[in-house]
Amino acid sequence: MSNIDNHESLGADRPPLGANAHLAGSEPNAVGSVGVEVLLAEPRGFCAGVDRAIEIVEKALTKFGRPIYVRHEIVHNTYVVNDLKARGAIFIEELDDVPPGATLVFSAHGVSQAIQKEAARRGFQIFDATCPLVTKVHVEVAKLHKEGYEFVMIGHKGHPEVEGTMGQLDSGIHLVEDVADVARIQPGQTDKLAVVTQTTLSVDDAADITAAVVARFPNIKKPKMQDICYATQNRQDAVKVMSPQVDIVIVVGSPTSSNSNRLRELALKLGTESYMVDSAAELQAAWFEGKQRVGLTAGASAPEVLVKAVIDRIKALGAVSVRKMDGIEETVKFPLPKGLKLDA
Ligand code: SF4
Repeated sequence: MSNIDNHESLGADRPPLGANAHLAGSEPNAVGSVGVEVLLAEPRGFCAGVDRAIEIVEKALTKFGRPIYVRHEIVHNTYVVNDLKARGAIFIEELDDVPPGATLVFSAHGVSQAIQKEAARRGFQIFDATCPLVTKVHVEVAKLHKEGYEFVMIGHKGHPEVEGTMGQLDSGIHLVEDVADVARIQPGQTDKLAVVTQTTLSVDDAADITAAVVARFPNIKKPKMQDICYATQNRQDAVKVMSPQVDIVIVVGSPTSSNSNRLRELALKLGTESYMVDSAAELQAAWFEGKQRVGLTAGASAPEVLVKAVIDRIKALGAVSVRKMDGIEETVKFPLPKGLKLDA
């Protein structure tokens, strides 16, 4: 939850644009002058799946003590990962790096069947922080596979969620990253074919690729509800509303975060200059030269503490007001896995 008021005025007298590059707090070498208003996108930042994944690691640390092993970054955010590292989490990619008897958490992106089975065979105490909305896709793939289906998966090659979903099957799942890929795939049969997508794609790009898939395979089965998750959709919708109202969009997110990258791309596509920053320190004063309104959002894995630090830095560069935009209030919450209840 943000503690930013709907309209937080930071000064009664609005400085003329271009006159505030040397206000107290701005860096001596600041080359630009920041705009007068910051618009905060709603919703932004943490989603229910990220909240749950972080809480699983925190609760495991409290209950079982350090270290807790986590396969892959629990969520794609540098600050979150470093914070958990400092508290005793050890992030690994290979199960060989986990000692016998250790407690292991699977990241929010999910894992393949092979990793699940190997981790169980090695006898680790496992907590699965896979987002339930990713698990839903895994369950759908397994169910339809039993009925003889092959799959077209729309997603980004090498992303851990895509590896996890494709790894639900040994074969029969064909990845397409863009419209051009659709013509290249060669399913073994086309009578029983279904489409699934990564949860954090651009909604518009996924629609275009799905249309190309349907054009090539008219009988392909589509999910009842699209696989792109509510959080990805809502954050993109908020950027669509915000972008035309601002001169620049700042996205708080790490370079590895799929949904954060999509927010920046979307703002650019809508014709608004946009930058993604992992922390406030990455903001460059020159970006704000002559800008009057700054849009600010955050990917689903970026904590609000980083958003606040970015706001503070933009204020230091001279912003005089922060306004929260209207938007959907998210109430989704996912339960924790069993075995993490803390003793009284
Ligand atoms: S972005 Fe969507 S799929 Fe990913 S953790 Fe959040 S809710 Fe789950």
